[in-house]
Amino acid sequence: MALVNPHGSKKELMPLLLKGAERDEEIKRAEGMKRLDITSKESGDILMLGMGAFTPLNGFMVKEDYDGVVEDMKLRKVDPGTMWPLPVTLAQDDVSGISEGDEVALYDKETGDLMATMKIESIWEPDKRKECEMCFKGAGPDSERFWEVAEEDHPGVQQVLGSGKYYIGGPIKALSEKDFKQKYGDAYMHPAVARGIFEDRGWSTVAAFQTRNPIHRSHEFLTKIAQEVLDGVFIHALVGKLKEGDIPGEVRMKCYKALLDNYYNMERTVLGVYPLEMRYGGPKEALLHGIFRQNFGCSHLIVGRDHAGVGDFYGLFEAQEIFDTLWDGALELQCLKIDWTFWCHKCGGMASLKTCPHDKEDRVVVSGTKFRRIMSEGKPEDVPPEFSRPEVLAILAEYYSDPEARKAKVKKGAFEDLK
Ligand SMILES: [Zn+2]
Repeated sequence: MALVNPHGSKKELMPLLLKGAERDEEIKRAEGMKRLDITSKESGDILMLGMGAFTPLNGFMVKEDYDGVVEDMKLRKVDPGTMWPLPVTLAQDDVSGISEGDEVALYDKETGDLMATMKIESIWEPDKRKECEMCFKGAGPDSERFWEVAEEDHPGVQQVLGSGKYYIGGPIKALSEKDFKQKYGDAYMHPAVARGIFEDRGWSTVAAFQTRNPIHRSHEFLTKIAQEVLDGVFIHALVGKLKEGDIPGEVRMKCYKALLDNYYNMERTVLGVYPLEMRYGGPKEALLHGIFRQNFGCSHLIVGRDHAGVGDFYGLFEAQEIFDTLWDGALELQCLKIDWTFWCHKCGGMASLKTCPHDKEDRVVVSGTKFRRIMSEGKPEDVPPEFSRPEVLAILAEYYSDPEARKAKVKKGAFEDLK
C-alpha cells in the first residue's frame, strides 16, 4: 500500500521554492521589479506554497479561483473543480502603480525578507464581508449574531477586514524560507521529506495531529488512539505567528520533545512544524488542514472538539461534520473523528464521552481559566498528573515565571482549547 496522493488532479507535489542558481538569478531579477510589502500571514502562505504544502495552487489566488473558493469551495482556474475551502490571497491598499501582467517582488514587511516574485494576473476589489460570512460563519451561538461580534471577537474576520482593500493574484516563485530551518532544524520539513520518512518506515496510513498548543493528556490520548488503528502519527505543530497570549513555538517545541521523549513510541511517531498562520476558520480550516496534511502524505486528520475554532462561532463538532458534506473525490484524506477525552477515575484511565459511562465528578477536567491561574501562581504541582505530564508542566512553569509571559498569560486565547 502506498501513501495517499497529493491533492489536486495532477496527484503530484508542486513546490514553488526555487533553489541554487535559479534562485540566485530570480533574486537578481527581483531588483528590477516593483516592491510590494506583504504581511506575515502572506509570508506564511508563501512558505506553504514554496514547500508544496498548498499543492495544487501556483501562487496567490486570482479572482476566478477566489470566487470559486468563497462560493462553492472549488478552484475554477488553476485546477478547475478541485476542492479548496479558504482563500489564499495577497492584499494591498495601493494598486495605482501596478497592472495585470506586471512582475512584482514581495517583501515581508516585518522582517524585510524577499519572499517571492509574482506575475500579476488579476487585481480586484473583493467583497470582504461576503468572504467573512462564507468562510467564518458557523453554527455556534456567536454566528447567529455574526456581525454584532465578529469584528470584535473573530481574529480571522479582523485579519480579512484589516487587510488591504484590493487583492492581487498570480503565480509566484518562492525565494525564502525565513529562519525556520535554523530555528526548528529537521522538524521544519517539506511534504516530500515527510513522505520520504513515512515510506522508509513502510507506513501507508498516517494520522496528522494538528496543534497550536502544548499537548496535555487528552490530546496525547487522541494521538494514541490514532496510533492504535493506523501505522503512525504525524504530530504537526503550527509555528507561524499566533494570537497574543498563545504559547510561542519555541516553548511548545520543548514541551513536545519532553512529551515524546518520555511517553511516545518514536518508531510510530514523527514530529514536524509548519509556518502557516491560523485563520480560526473552524470547519473550513479543518478542511484546509486536511488538504495540506494529505500533501504531507497523511491519510487521516485527527479532528476533536472545536477544531480551529474561536469563541463560540462554531458548533463543537462542526469541523468533523463538514467532512461528511464533501462530494465524492473532493479529498482523499479522511477525518478521524474523536469525541472529548479526559482521565476518568472510575474507568481508571483515559476515556471519552463515547466510552465512559460515569459522572462529571469522576473525570479530571481542568478548565483553561483554572489552569492559567494555577500556572500563574507558580504551582504546577497543583495540576493533576492525570491532566498533564509533569515534564510538560515543568517547561510551562518556567515559561510562566517569565515576567513577559506573565503579562500575556491573562489574555484570552492561551490554552483556549482546554475550555
Ligand atoms: Zn469513566
